[in-house]
Amino acid sequence: MGIKTGAEYLDSLKRMSPEVYIGGEKINNVVENKYFQISLREMAKFYDWAHDPEKEKDFVFWSPLVEERVSFWTHLRRTPEEVRKLIETLKKNNARHFCSMCMITGLNVLWAVTYDIDQARGTQYHRRLQDFFRELQRNDLRYCMGVMDPKGDRSLPPHRQQDPDLYLRVVDRNKDGIVVRGAKIHTSNAPVTHFIFTSPSGVLQEADRDYAVSFAIPTDTKGLRFITRPAPGPLAAREMESPVSSRIGFVESLSVFDDVFVPWERVFMCGEWEFTKNLIGYFSPYVRICKGACTSARTDILIGAAALIADYNGVGRAGHIREKITDMIMASEIGWGCALGAVANSYMHPSGIPVPDVSISNAGLYHNRLRFIEFLGTLQEIAGGIVTTMPGEGEYLNGETRKDMEKYLKGREGVSAEDRLRLLYFIQDITASRFGGYLVASAICAGGTPETNRVEVFRNYDLKGKIDNVKSWCKIGDIIPGS
Ligand SMILES: Cc1cc2nc3c(=O)[nH]c(=O)nc-3n(C[C@H](O)[C@H](O)[C@H](O)COP(=O)(O)OP(=O)(O)OC[C@H]3O[C@@H](n4cnc5c(N)ncnc54)[C@H](O)[C@@H]3O)c2cc1C
Repeated sequence: MGIKTGAEYLDSLKRMSPEVYIGGEKINNVVENKYFQISLREMAKFYDWAHDPEKEKDFVFWSPLVEERVSFWTHLRRTPEEVRKLIETLKKNNARHFCSMCMITGLNVLWAVTYDIDQARGTQYHRRLQDFFRELQRNDLRYCMGVMDPKGDRSLPPHRQQDPDLYLRVVDRNKDGIVVRGAKIHTSNAPVTHFIFTSPSGVLQEADRDYAVSFAIPTDTKGLRFITRPAPGPLAAREMESPVSSRIGFVESLSVFDDVFVPWERVFMCGEWEFTKNLIGYFSPYVRICKGACTSARTDILIGAAALIADYNGVGRAGHIREKITDMIMASEIGWGCALGAVANSYMHPSGIPVPDVSISNAGLYHNRLRFIEFLGTLQEIAGGIVTTMPGEGEYLNGETRKDMEKYLKGREGVSAEDRLRLLYFIQDITASRFGGYLVASAICAGGTPETNRVEVFRNYDLKGKIDNVKSWCKIGDIIPGS
């Protein structure tokens, strides 16, 4: 009980036996497996932060639900100030560590939607979610978010797919619980968490009633299997050549539910298709403020690297480089400012949590995620082609070739070839490696694509009001139909 250490977290996983396939085989134990080491170290590090006196103030909270200290990853944010602190922590932390597992906000989203359903239908979902929260908080457990369905033909709703399992659905109900079949896809870090927490991935129609399902079950529940790909970093750490991806990265899974039983106590939505609109309405601003803060933080990393390599190359004061770095700073500030603004413009949901502004959060993320992708190229431009042509770490460590590299790969006077190389390897790792590709996908797809941002901004904008304003300036009356 209480907040776990990294070692206690690893012990807790050793007691679980999820069905996992990776590297071409079925494995028995994720804790011992080579493919999981980067993700496990990362997760254990997050646990240890709660015990680090310097980090404790950001990662430990008092929970009125259990009247105990709980961790950042299980805490329910009840005021705009708490949500603001959440994104401030993401911004500060991700600018150093790239990621802080921001899918935590799924809990706030389900908190609001279960309340709505109970109020309208007299169901028990909100009470059950509170019990689930208590279990997470008391035992300091982690969960992954199974939101996205495989979706098959994207132009068709779930019930019209040729294979009805392409969206996760309820296939049976009895007095004890429900049976679900189908899959979730892109589930980050699933086998290194304790629970999979699911929700529908979009707004559903009445005919999709069976797909309106949300629940949480242990990751080693019978019938649940994870087909997992390793984190994008090297299996054996290469501290010089892959300084980031040797330490940071997440495994991703196709999570298959093969007639999995879920007890009613862990079911948070079952058939209430009308409330999927509310769910997406809360999910959208929450995920976008977190991603907006994260993308701003990652842009700050690119800015630091751009300024340093420009200096090492002797072009730190060149006008065009200053301009490019200024553009990067502006995009970072806009993304961050919109995340803050969306929180400041929150409304209070009757369940007692704030819901940030959907339009500002989406507009900010749309802007800074697209520019982030562009800036990966900008950073390469500032660093030069050497990012993808330089010899590897092995040649630097080989005495025969090292002297040539030290002579010819130097930058300006006063900077050693080794320091310049270390920085170039860092830039390669974040812009031109498998990890760099993951950062692109993470910026462009994770948390919904830029198109979903566009849709939300357009849908929530008072366009008619703006047209009416112009009409009134021009003294244009309403057009009479047929005239
Ligand atoms: C690194 C990473 C981590 C992730 N982690 C998680 C996670 O932990 N949990 C989770 O649930 N999800 C996760 N995701 C999934 C993420 O939310 C989705 O990738 C994202 O929402 C886009 O969905 P998709 O990938 O299925 O793309 P698609 O929906 O297949 O979209 C592809 C293209 O088709 C277009 N399109 C799709 N449907 C339509 C339509 N009906 N009409 C017109 N155009 C359409 C889209 O606009 C887009 O251009 C993660 C993704 C990434 C990349």
